[in-house]
Amino acid sequence: MVMHELGLLTAVVEAILQAADTASASKVNEVSLKVGTLSGAVPEALYGAWPIATDRTICEDAQLRLNVIPATVYCSKCRQNVTIDEFFALLCPVCATPTGQLATGREFEIEWVEWDCPDTVGAPAAGTDTGSMLATTNTSKLD
Ligand SMILES: [Zn+2]
Repeated sequence: MVMHELGLLTAVVEAILQAADTASASKVNEVSLKVGTLSGAVPEALYGAWPIATDRTICEDAQLRLNVIPATVYCSKCRQNVTIDEFFALLCPVCATPTGQLATGREFEIEWVEWDCPDTVGAPAAGTDTGSMLATTNTSKLD
């Protein structure tokens, strides 16, 4: 049912996790994807597969937003990009000239991602009682 979309989203989540790791992000809040109407991905199925693709990752509570891009072709006779219906052939809807020049509609890409980045990572504040840690980790240079 949503296997195709799940595969696409798994790749998206992997890319986000890699970038989030580099940025030391702790939690992803929102993800926006560009989805062309001819990309082969169905928005409803993407929404359905999102919780599965993000399960047990820092993306699991992130909200998915889809920016659906209509399919357009470039017509050399009209000299402009014109929107076509996704189910129609590659014809200019204005003058009916056949065109193979799909301008937009095949997009499937990450538009933007919003995440939380902690200001300080790791280091315990000075004065923190690290007695039991010192005993086991042997960081005896700490004052
Ligand atoms: Zn035309």
